[in-house]
Amino acid sequence: MSGMNLHYDLHSHSTASDGTLSPAGLVQAAQSAGVNVLALTDHDTTDGIGEAGAVAERLGLQLVAGVEISVSWQSLTVHILGLNINPVCASLQDGLLHLREFRDWRAEEIARRLEKSGIGGAYEGACALTQGRIVSRTHFAHYLVAAGHAASVREVFKRYLVYGKPGYVTGQWASLEDALDWIHRAGGLAVIAHPARYRLTATRLRRLIGEFRELGGEGIEVVSGSHTRDHINTMAMHARREGMLASQGSDYHGPENPWVRLGELAELPAGCCPIWDSEAWPLH
Ligand code: AMP
Ligand code: MN
Ligand code: MN
Ligand code: MN
Repeated sequence: MSGMNLHYDLHSHSTASDGTLSPAGLVQAAQSAGVNVLALTDHDTTDGIGEAGAVAERLGLQLVAGVEISVSWQSLTVHILGLNINPVCASLQDGLLHLREFRDWRAEEIARRLEKSGIGGAYEGACALTQGRIVSRTHFAHYLVAAGHAASVREVFKRYLVYGKPGYVTGQWASLEDALDWIHRAGGLAVIAHPARYRLTATRLRRLIGEFRELGGEGIEVVSGSHTRDHINTMAMHARREGMLASQGSDYHGPENPWVRLGELAELPAGCCPIWDSEAWPLH
């Protein structure tokens, strides 16, 4: 197969969601990093795909149309990637629109709560940093750092934006079932993003993977920019045991975060079935 030596990065963000590079800039950066196949997977929007696809074609890179859907599962937020989706699918777009409407309401609610703990102007501040149609906690974090309320994005999350902190608002995202339905109606493959990030017990992780698989989910992101070597081995074991496809992606958000570099990924452990080798993967 001709795809054997291609370099894949199947998880990345642009200014269409909470990344800091434009879709065009992201594709250029991927090209410089030696990536041959890049998936643009913005949170709850496909708005960057047109621009990214056009630049990718000019540079000779394969652009995989993707999305990272916010899902509420058992009082947690989990992220499900759709890869090789058709962005014009009406069911998908209708679903994403509802998630963005929740985001808009949540942004005002986050700001109201921050206001009560003495931080004003956060709604306007966060919105001023958005370049696309979604407002994320990342935008709040960048604003709070700029306004001097914390030294780093990481610190903002820890002090203000996570469960139990003043600016936390419970997610009311898509159901797992709906997210998978939208992805499949759009012709895509569904992948559980960065499964180690949810800090699930082994039992709950098996339950998540089991439900996802029963609903027709295809893959697990085994290698992620946020996974340690141990996480990679654990997720590879789950993928093998459940007969699921394995994916890899940096979850790149821009050059500001030096820990995560585009295309800089560990190899999938032996015994994994790479998602791009599956019959259902359109580009080889
Ligand atoms: P949202 O989807 O708006 O709730 O925001 C989630 C995004 O915030 C994730 O996709 C990450 O990009 C970012 N994020 C979440 N937790 C952290 C953290 N502890 N430090 C930095 N960024 C984070
Ligand atoms: Mn993000
Ligand atoms: Mn994510
Ligand atoms: Mn992501």
